Amino acid sequence: MDAFISRKMSTVTAEVGERETTVVVGGGQAGFAFSAKLRELGYPGRIVLIGDEKHPPYQRPPLSKAYLLGETTVERLQFRPEQFYANNGIELRLSTRVLSVSRDHRSVTLSDGGTLSYDHLVFATGARPRRLPNEIGGGLASVHYMRTLDDADSLAAVCRGGRELLVVGGGYIGLEAAAVARKLGAQVTLIEAAPRILQRVASPETASYFRALHRRHGVDLREGVGLAGLTEAGGRIAGAKLTDRSTVQVDLVVVGIGVVPNQELAAAAALRCDNGIVVDAFCRTGDPRIMAVGDCASIPLDDALIRLESVGHAIEHAQTAASILMGSDQSYRPNPWFWSDQFDVKLQIAGLLTGYDRVVTRGAAPGPTSHWYYFGDRLLAVDAMNDPRAYMIGKKLIQAGRSPRPETIVDPAADLKSLLAA
Ligand code: FAD
Repeated sequence: MDAFISRKMSTVTAEVGERETTVVVGGGQAGFAFSAKLRELGYPGRIVLIGDEKHPPYQRPPLSKAYLLGETTVERLQFRPEQFYANNGIELRLSTRVLSVSRDHRSVTLSDGGTLSYDHLVFATGARPRRLPNEIGGGLASVHYMRTLDDADSLAAVCRGGRELLVVGGGYIGLEAAAVARKLGAQVTLIEAAPRILQRVASPETASYFRALHRRHGVDLREGVGLAGLTEAGGRIAGAKLTDRSTVQVDLVVVGIGVVPNQELAAAAALRCDNGIVVDAFCRTGDPRIMAVGDCASIPLDDALIRLESVGHAIEHAQTAASILMGSDQSYRPNPWFWSDQFDVKLQIAGLLTGYDRVVTRGAAPGPTSHWYYFGDRLLAVDAMNDPRAYMIGKKLIQAGRSPRPETIVDPAADLKSLLAA
């Protein structure tokens, strides 16, 4: 083991022993963050990180952005080179699926036929794309999803000028895929069954900004319209019938209609699940030896359970869980942040806008623009489009529980930075 580990050995708490094994199920953002942090904090036991994909843990956000555009490489997606895991005493088992968990025996069974005992078990199983039903063509070749590196590779191989792409779903994944496909020269139609794009995740104001952006770049964006069915000829997609009875000529489909948490293993082990594996503020399930982190976890926030799907949450939740396993008594409270790249616009979001009753806007499209969401006088969230300064300042204010007067936000002469000093 290298200096990375030994440097921190002195911080090891009395409760965690050298003979212990911590098994992490899922080699994605949260599984990596947990394992690396646990080792960094000086955990002296065995860490086994099990992932069913063949790639060492990698970042997903570029899959629907720079990677799909061909602007970055597989190596640059990986959090660390494979050697890192061996150097830091993290046993990385790739292409291996955890098939079941026995809480009585404190063990997991693996797709390679093995069994592994654990002292601590961490679910970092993420989420998977909701599938298009087969009845409307979901089983056809040329229907693509965007979750894994393999998904991105198979779409990148066929998405180019001359193709006619239908994007089903106007959430971030669908919108990002549409933007990349346009940049690559494809004709793009995007349909969203809800009354507007980003219905579940952003305000009408932010949706309007991105609707206009996509239309400016030639995306045929249709809202309140679902997919009635794909038509095929000779095993290939020939067109799409929409719920408004219109038809579109398409030969390629990307589906971005949301994700479902990978909670089945936990549910089969009789752990409570409710839109994710339910954990308390200390990342623990009902079994004190089992935690859940990242996209797969249903976490408490203000008397409700929520599930977050973002890099920021996956990292911070996982790192908090590692600290807790090492004896910290700091609970987890999310400080949500998120970003999305579409065409020449970077959207950055701080906070959660749930429950807002007022929104004020600084700037105007197509220049730097930010929407600030309030409940009463309390600032809840900021959406910033090409305005990193508004994002950074909004994020700091929200984290500090401070709320600037809306009149100051909309005043173009006001210096936002001064709000931090006030
Ligand atoms: P994942 O990264 O999904 O990792 C879970 C892993 O566990 C997967 O490899 C899965 O195959 C594996 N697994 C599941 N079950 C088992 C099992 N039984 N045995 C072994 N392995 C198993 N977030 C942002 O904040 N900003 C963005 O711009 C952004 N863009 C995104 C773009 C795309 C295309 C996608 C897909 C996601 C994007 N996200 C973005 C979301 C972000 O990537 C996720 O929130 C994050 O990856 C969640 O990390 P996780 O570890 O919880 O889950």
